[in-house]
Amino acid sequence: MGDIVVIGAGFAGLEAARVFSRHRRALGGRRVILVDAKRTFDFLPILPDMLGGRIVRDHAVLDVAEYLERLGVNFENGEAASVDMAAREVRLKDGHALGYEYLLVCCGSVTNFYGAVEIEKHALKLDSADDAAMIQNTVVTYPQKKFLIVGGGYTGIEIATNIARFLRRHRIRKYNIHVVERQEDILTALPEWMRDYCRLNLCRLRIQLHVGASISQRTESSVTLSNGLRIDDCLLIWAAGVQTPGFVRRLPSEQDPQGRLKVGKTLSFAEGAFAAGDAAAFMKKGRALRMAVQFSLNEGHLAAENILRLCAGRKKLKAYRPVDLGYLVPMANFRACGTVLGVPVLGFAGWILHYAMCIYRSLSLRHRLGIARDILLR
Ligand SMILES: Cc1cc2nc3c(=O)[nH]c(=O)nc-3n(C[C@H](O)[C@H](O)[C@H](O)COP(=O)(O)OP(=O)(O)OC[C@H]3O[C@@H](n4cnc5c(N)ncnc54)[C@H](O)[C@@H]3O)c2cc1C
Repeated sequence: MGDIVVIGAGFAGLEAARVFSRHRRALGGRRVILVDAKRTFDFLPILPDMLGGRIVRDHAVLDVAEYLERLGVNFENGEAASVDMAAREVRLKDGHALGYEYLLVCCGSVTNFYGAVEIEKHALKLDSADDAAMIQNTVVTYPQKKFLIVGGGYTGIEIATNIARFLRRHRIRKYNIHVVERQEDILTALPEWMRDYCRLNLCRLRIQLHVGASISQRTESSVTLSNGLRIDDCLLIWAAGVQTPGFVRRLPSEQDPQGRLKVGKTLSFAEGAFAAGDAAAFMKKGRALRMAVQFSLNEGHLAAENILRLCAGRKKLKAYRPVDLGYLVPMANFRACGTVLGVPVLGFAGWILHYAMCIYRSLSLRHRLGIARDILLR
């Protein structure tokens, strides 16, 4: 009998920890060890609001060790560097090894720079609350107030609108915010009416869009786009895509182009090994489910239940049946668009629904009250 090792204390990992904690007796004496490279759980959907000054950091992060102690789950603060599937061992960056009987990979995803090392050295990204604090500090101190955001997906749009909000609230009217998108439009996976709505709103905030363009040249002081536009002295923020962390991509298991582990109906990708959240590619109608909190929570829950079944010696595992509640693109100036339960939503109603969901999914009463207060007062 060995341990259960969970890699990643994000939405999926903490949900799994809650399931293990609630069914302690079913573990049959096995220890649950949750490994995370950080000491905090960062509530990613409200990190863009930290940039806009709407949400304070304290309401976006949670101390993982404290939270897990209450659940009676062990916490190992370390970065998983590799997994030896044959020996059933997770190796951490500091050389420490954790043997496992069952493994759950829920390490989320990180910004993908597509091998552009020079850009990675100089650009900012938004993967964690530390990154959000770094962008916020830089926006405050950056004298030129010129920003170039690469990537016209959800994250890029949220970053751009929040920077605009921050500057406007500080009565800084002279600013330049550019969003560059390689494809022919922003948010290409979304229906046209949503893209139109977002484009119009970006225009309202004086955010300049460059679609069908990419960075063709970068020097210390300037960036040139493929459409010929040269932008001097701008702060570069990269939000052009994500991939799983390196140790996942090095696993000898089938993956999608973003390095997400292709899981079966039970969320298993190898014997005794499961994946959930952004790290898992659960295929539905030939496409991997999109990366979203709702799927991460449900997958973390089901993977933990299946591990408990294996602990009890049961052969039949539960199949995952995803239900999509919808999605929203929140923008900092009280506007959002998307669909909820199949119904199109836009404007202030969508904006409020987004934060209602964030409050509902927060992990403590302190966080819930904190976010609610920030939204009302800041
Ligand atoms: C800016 C932003 C805004 C978003 N907005 C929304 C939204 O509005 N609605 C929505 O549904 N989704 C949103 N998402 C997506 C959503 O946050 C993710 O789908 C969700 O967080 C994935 O949960 P997870 O448990 O898979 O991973 P995460 O919550 O990302 O947690 C992964 C954990 O694994 C840890 N980890 C990573 N690598 C290692 C390693 N090698 N060793 C140890 N630990 C490791 C990380 O430190 C982290 O704590 C947003 C994402 C971002 C970045």
